[in-house]
Amino acid sequence: MKSKYDLLVVGGGPGGALAARTAAEKGLSTCLLEKRPAIGVPVRCAEGIGKEALVEYVKPNPSYISAEINRAELVAPDGTSLILESRVVGSKVGYVLDRKIFDRCLVAQAADAGADVMVKTRAVAPLITDGVVNGAILEQQGKNTPVTADVVIAADGVESKFARWCGIDTTVPVREAMTCAQYLMTGLDIEEHTTVFYLGNEIAPNGYLWVFPKGGRTANVGIGISGKNSRAGHRAKDYLDRFVHTRFPEGKIIEQIVGGVPVCKPLPCTAADGLLIAGDAARVVDPLTGGGIYNAMYTGKLAAETAVNAISRGNVSKDALGNYDTMWRTSSFGKSLYRNWQIKEYFITLSDMKLNALVQSATTLDLENFSTLNIIKELMKRNPGLIPELAMLKLGLG
Ligand SMILES: Cc1cc2nc3c(=O)[nH]c(=O)nc-3n(C[C@H](O)[C@H](O)[C@H](O)COP(=O)(O)OP(=O)(O)OC[C@H]3O[C@@H](n4cnc5c(N)ncnc54)[C@H](O)[C@@H]3O)c2cc1C
Repeated sequence: MKSKYDLLVVGGGPGGALAARTAAEKGLSTCLLEKRPAIGVPVRCAEGIGKEALVEYVKPNPSYISAEINRAELVAPDGTSLILESRVVGSKVGYVLDRKIFDRCLVAQAADAGADVMVKTRAVAPLITDGVVNGAILEQQGKNTPVTADVVIAADGVESKFARWCGIDTTVPVREAMTCAQYLMTGLDIEEHTTVFYLGNEIAPNGYLWVFPKGGRTANVGIGISGKNSRAGHRAKDYLDRFVHTRFPEGKIIEQIVGGVPVCKPLPCTAADGLLIAGDAARVVDPLTGGGIYNAMYTGKLAAETAVNAISRGNVSKDALGNYDTMWRTSSFGKSLYRNWQIKEYFITLSDMKLNALVQSATTLDLENFSTLNIIKELMKRNPGLIPELAMLKLGLG
């Protein structure tokens, strides 16, 4: 293990991989650490991503695409369905990935660009000199080794501790911590290219339940509910079991996972002296959908580009690195996080009756582009009376 790098990246998920790949491509000596023995496992994800989002960072490759998606269905509490179709015939609006392979491909790209990759290597503490983060203590097989770096990028996911060790409050309010359970199921009678979302306070309080096809008769069937609703008999897994029992009684569970998704606002600041925070660790998941793969790649890449500039100028102070925070926050990506947080806060107040009415107002939406924003705009157009509160939020949807 080398004792000094330009950049240390903590975490081998999509955020860390994009950070390491970008920095290595731009010539920084870069090291990516992953505490688990293998990249990409266990998968804690429903693996859905929009086509445009994916192609911004990687060329779609059949090796990590489980299913192409061209349609989505929203199911109201009373069973009414709203079908979201793409107006562009034959278009793929998204993919369900195989993240075991996808995450490995991303990290392999970072390695090919020249980054060192260390698995089964955990950052256990930051190195801090005169208030400036300048590396980390790495633990491998019970042995601790200090490794210095000009900048550290904390891309250590939802369970992130690195930023907290550096004195940053990363607490997610229980209400905004989605607790999730998911089964990979086979033997299902499903539409192979349609993602299905089930809404309602009985089925998934303050969250939703999803069925994301994985090819053939296989799908990720999962649920996220607010941490505040989780209690004995009403845990995410309890809701999921009830759903699976009635909807897919013949299905077989071949994998089970649990996980968390932060659907709060992003951290108030994602840069400090010598430190940048990206992906779930920065709480930049889309609060409405819970999607965070693209968000992690977006912030990971931007964080690395900022580190490259700061290191080349010999200034890794919070002021210099703060450019990263300003850039993502003022971008359309950053603005959409705040807007979707407001929409999420509104949607969780809706009764099942209101959700039914919303879905009944439009049983089919043909959209050029499948974005959340376009769906909300269409629903607002069709429900001027039903959702005046949403219009009042001044979401800039005009
Ligand atoms: C049930 C569920 C379903 C989801 N479905 C979707 C979906 O369909 N689409 C979507 O876009 N998003 C989804 N998400 C969210 C998505 O999985 C995350 O937003 C995304 O993985 C974030 O990437 P990341 O790189 O920030 O973090 P992660 O992918 O979590 O990677 C962080 C890595 O850091 C490692 N690590 C942590 N601490 C240390 C340490 N101290 N030292 C070394 N390594 C460390 C971890 O082991 C981990 O591998 C889902 C999440 C859950 C839980």
